[in-house]
This record gives sequence, C-alpha cells and structure tokens, in this order.
Amino acid sequence: KVKSKAVEKKHCNVGTIGHVDHGKTTLTAAITKVLSKDGFAKYVSYDEIDRAPEEKARGITINAAHVGYSTKNRHYAHTDCPGHADYIRNMISGASQMDAAIVVVAANDGPMPQTKEHLLLAKQVGIKYVLVYINKVDIVDNELVELVEIEMREMLTDYGFEGLTAPIIHGSALAALKDDQTEIGVPSIMKLLDTMDNYIPPIIRDLESPFLLPIDNAFTVPGRGTVVVGTIKRGVMKKNDEAELMGFGYNIKTTLSDIQIFRKSVPEALAGDNVGVLLRGMKLRNVETGMIVSAAKSLSLSNHYKGKVYFLSHSEGGRKKPVFSKYTQQMFSGTWNIACRIDLEPSMEMLMPGDHADVLLTLLEGMVMVKGQQFTIRENNVTVATGIITDTMQ
Ligand code: GDP
Ligand code: MG
Repeated sequence: KVKSKAVEKKHCNVGTIGHVDHGKTTLTAAITKVLSKDGFAKYVSYDEIDRAPEEKARGITINAAHVGYSTKNRHYAHTDCPGHADYIRNMISGASQMDAAIVVVAANDGPMPQTKEHLLLAKQVGIKYVLVYINKVDIVDNELVELVEIEMREMLTDYGFEGLTAPIIHGSALAALKDDQTEIGVPSIMKLLDTMDNYIPPIIRDLESPFLLPIDNAFTVPGRGTVVVGTIKRGVMKKNDEAELMGFGYNIKTTLSDIQIFRKSVPEALAGDNVGVLLRGMKLRNVETGMIVSAAKSLSLSNHYKGKVYFLSHSEGGRKKPVFSKYTQQMFSGTWNIACRIDLEPSMEMLMPGDHADVLLTLLEGMVMVKGQQFTIRENNVTVATGIITDTMQ
C-alpha cells in the first residue's frame, strides 16, 4: 500500500567516468549525435563538451560539461569532466549527484589507475549503479576485449558493485561519432542507452529503511509539547512509533505522539514529506537544529567518522599553507556546525591545498552522520575544504 505512493523520477543524472583518454568525451558526443537523428538530443560536438566553462560549486572550481538528452522513457542529464582532478572535486563536493555512472575503459589499455580511483569514489559517494562501455574495440582483437571484460567484472566486485551482473557493452565511440552503422558503431550507442533505461531503476524514495528526520526547526505548542519540523530523509514515520532524538552528544528516547503535514494530523508520513512531529515528554530546551529523530535503536551517535576531503587551492579561496594532523576547525553540514579535528593517515605527512585525501574526523560531540553526507570545513567563515562521510567509527 505504501509502495504505490512511491514516485517515479522521470529525470536521471548520469556521467561518464574513467581514465584519461579512454574516450569519455567522444562517447558523450556520440550519444548526442546518435540521438539527434530522432530529435531526442541536440548534437553537442566533442570540442563543445571539452571546452566546458568553469563552474564554481562552494568556491571550488570544477570544469564540467552538462549535456541533456532523452530516450523514450527518460530524460538524462549527463556530466563529463575534462580532467581527473575535476572528477575528484565534482564527486567529493556533490556538485552533480549521479544516479548512475558509465565507466569508459579503452580495450587497448584495460582498467588503469584513474579507472580505479573513480570507481572507489563512486562507491564512497553512494553511486549504486555502474555500467561499463569498453571503448576502442576497433583497434584490438576480440580476445583482448573479453579479457578486459573479465578484469572489469573483478574490479567492480572488488569495489562493492554488482560485478557479475553489471552490463558491459563493447563498442567504438569514435566509430559511432562518424556514423559507422556496423555493430561497434551507432548500434553500440543504442544498446548502451537501452541498457541505461532498463538497468537504472526508476528512483524510488527509500521507504524500507528505518525512518530518519533531520530537524530544521522546533517550537512549543502550549499545552501539547515540543514539535520538531523537517523533511523525512528516509523511511516511514507512524503515529506512536518509538523514536530517539539524537545529536550534540544527547540521545533521548521519545514517542511520535502526533504527525502533521500542512498542519493536518496524519497517521503516517513518508520519505520526502515535510512534517511537524510532536515528541512525547520532550522539552524544547533539549532540541537543537541539527539533531535528528530516528527510529528507536536504528542509529547511534558517534564522535568518529571516516571521510574524504578536498582542500581548496589558494586560488580557489582556500588555504595558503598545508594541513597537518590535529588540524581543528568548524565543520558545517546541513543546518548545524561543530568543532572537528582532522587527522591524516599515518603514511601522509601533510595535505596541500588543492589536494584530496582520506581522513579521520573527530567531532567535539557525538552526532549522527550517514554515509555519503556532505560537509564543509570553514576557517573564519571562509570555506577551505569540502568533504563526504565514507564510514562511521565507534
Ligand atoms: P577522455 O579523456 O576519456 O575524454 O577521452 P577522449 O574522448 O578525449 O578520447 C581520447 C582519444 O581517444 C581521442 O584522440 C579520441 O579520438 C580517441 N578515441 C575515442 N574513442 C575511440 C575509439 O572508439 N577508437 C579509437 N581508435 N580511438 C578513440
Ligand atoms: Mg574528456
């Protein structure tokens, strides 16, 4: 019954990832060219894509081309970045939240270091669906293509993707761009698009997970108690469910006494709904913006997280000097901020502005942060780093 309310997303965000020179931009251009024949896209040439203007996301400079096209079923917004560093910044800052990624791998090279780094990042930022386009099959023997396919399946599995079942398409983006009608040309692009339509599911709101409500606001209703306001991030909240209010070191048990949508009481509310929730026995002074209300026993507070951070270069408005372990500044995420210490991995002596790394984050007080949650680090109200949570430590 609940499921029927799920909304289909007619729009899908995708992007090409993979090692430099493996054909990401050629493939992007080829997709628009093939689809332009039937009026499903405006042809965007290779040069137009590669000359994408700089964009600024949170002060970070990212070169990215956003190309739009449609199939019969969907509209796609497709991101292609010119350089490896642009992909890193794009994914860590969440500038374009991809629902799925197309990994382009050249058949003559096989998977290379940037192929791995992009796959790792894709996993860390929570991209669930990955398709593979083995490119440049025009210049190698079939046996080599088969080997690359085996390698890619193993690598996908290693990084936590569905290596055995992920779709892998063989083709030549360059041939397709030149209107080659043999199997490796235009038909390989049609096959890729068909596979995207079928393999990437319509995005459904997460109604299966225990509920999670980040609190944007709270107020007192005289005679009734404390109401918290926010948009349900996941799950279903039902009247009289047991819950916990958590954040800033506190974990307070409570019950959902009443749930309102547009000031009308409802028996339940779903992920995506903006709600006001009356918490039984709660004092307003216990509630702070940035806390969360979650299903009882589903989440826990922690002061320790793993994350990936990118420090803005000096020209992006970032720091002049490198960062060393025990670097302590204010972390901002959603509606809250808290003092946070950043420690580098033991093998890393320092981190230069303009660079990224896996780090350990220690928060002054216990918070609930979920994998894929984005944050920034600011010094004197200036953003110096952007990051993403990759794991919770206890
Ligand atoms: P990117 O760095 O991943 O975006 O790669 P590009 O799209 O810029 O392609 C790099 C080079 O590979 C260019 O010279 C392309 O013309 C060439 N290339 C791309 N696709 C193919 C292909 O299918 N076959 C061959 N032989 N060359 C290709
Ligand atoms: Mg390119």
